[in-house]
Amino acid sequence: MRRTNFFIPTLRDTPKDAQIESHRLMLRAGMIQQASAGIYSWLPLGFRSLKKIEQIVREEQNAAGAQELLMPTLQAADLWKESGRYEDYGKELLRITDRHDRDMLYGPTNEEQITEIFRSHVKSYKALPMNLYHIQWKFRDEVRPRFGVMRGREFLMKDAYSFDLNYRDAVHSYNKMFLAYLKTYERMGLKAIPMMADSGPIGGDMSHEFVILAETGESAVFYQRDWFEDKNLSALEEAANLQNLVDGYLSKYAATDEKHDPLKCPIDEKDLISTRGIEVGHIFYFGTKYSEALGAKITGPDGDEAPVHMGSYGVGVSRLVGAIIEASHDEKGIVWPEAVSPFRVGLVNIKSDDKKCVEVCEDVYSSFNETKLDILYDDRDERAGAKLNDMDLIGLPWQVIVGPRGIKSGRVELKNRRSGTTEDLPIETLKQRFLTT
Ligand code: ATP
Ligand code: MG
Repeated sequence: MRRTNFFIPTLRDTPKDAQIESHRLMLRAGMIQQASAGIYSWLPLGFRSLKKIEQIVREEQNAAGAQELLMPTLQAADLWKESGRYEDYGKELLRITDRHDRDMLYGPTNEEQITEIFRSHVKSYKALPMNLYHIQWKFRDEVRPRFGVMRGREFLMKDAYSFDLNYRDAVHSYNKMFLAYLKTYERMGLKAIPMMADSGPIGGDMSHEFVILAETGESAVFYQRDWFEDKNLSALEEAANLQNLVDGYLSKYAATDEKHDPLKCPIDEKDLISTRGIEVGHIFYFGTKYSEALGAKITGPDGDEAPVHMGSYGVGVSRLVGAIIEASHDEKGIVWPEAVSPFRVGLVNIKSDDKKCVEVCEDVYSSFNETKLDILYDDRDERAGAKLNDMDLIGLPWQVIVGPRGIKSGRVELKNRRSGTTEDLPIETLKQRFLTT
């Protein structure tokens, strides 16, 4: 993509109303624009990262055997009246009346709707296990929307719902999602800790929140000092069956504020770290809460009918964009992990009126495009300093810097955004480097 054809409305000044770094950086890098309190437009650069994160979530859900569908954002209130949540949910639920005076709502989550789909079609245990998910916008009328996309009112969530015959099978489904979540966050370059959590208004007994540690996080959390030791996912995966793997992850103490009880905590205070974090996912097993209320029953192998066992599994897709930046930035700007970066490489011509520099840039650009490598070419007629600062702000993992001095000997500079290290490379070597990785 050429920068002259790509809309990135970067800001020179630091936005005053943004309280945390990720929010400031998303605004400064032209990734989002506030539409109204807690509601954002995703501008082209932000949209690319959002889509990459969404795709990783999708791939790991599919790999775990979940099936993607798409439910609407607007729901009829009737189902919510059936489950009792139309009243219980309180002011966070955005209630709407249509022209025929029918009560509608903008979905804050989809337990009712998925149960309605399930109960209409599935009657026998033979169709189980089943896990259905969608990646859809949600609305919760949060009292205090803040920190940009981190606590929005409208936000993108992946929510999956599992259906099983009995408790034992439901635990297996839960464990599969647990592992899928570990893989999902790892692919995004994040260290998320699964923590014992309260199951809140959704109810139920088994519940974990996946939390990224960050000083600016909204959740108070507690975890055992040596939690990160022996947490190599691939090594664990080889060694263990699913239940052992999950148990391995849960063998060290980690709990959210709501769940942590200092009097009952098995860990000595000196071995416990009390800090803050960002909740990027939450999984629940809630048994037959909704299937009973909504009459979603299945016939088992013995011919008896019983409510289906359910779980629900959320990932905050749009919150993740902010959370990743919160976890990965420096004083110059964002430092994207490769897998979720809007582009992999940024190409900067530091002398845009130099014919030879332009030629080299065009050559690198077209050969990277041929190999389908995501590249952003800053071809603007701007000062070198401004372009380099912009590249650091946007935070693409690699920068290729083309200047007159280097190209005299056929070389360009390759800079790693995270480490700041640079290499002078012959142009062909540069192309080969990205061809093979
Ligand atoms: P929180 O405690 O942060 O309000 P929650 O527990 O109400 O979140 P869940 O119902 O578990 O949220 O939703 C699943 C995921 O959706 C959360 O783990 C979080 O990552 C994301 N999420 C929830 N509320 C918001 C919001 N207002 N803005 C952005 N993402 C959100
Ligand atoms: Mg939650």
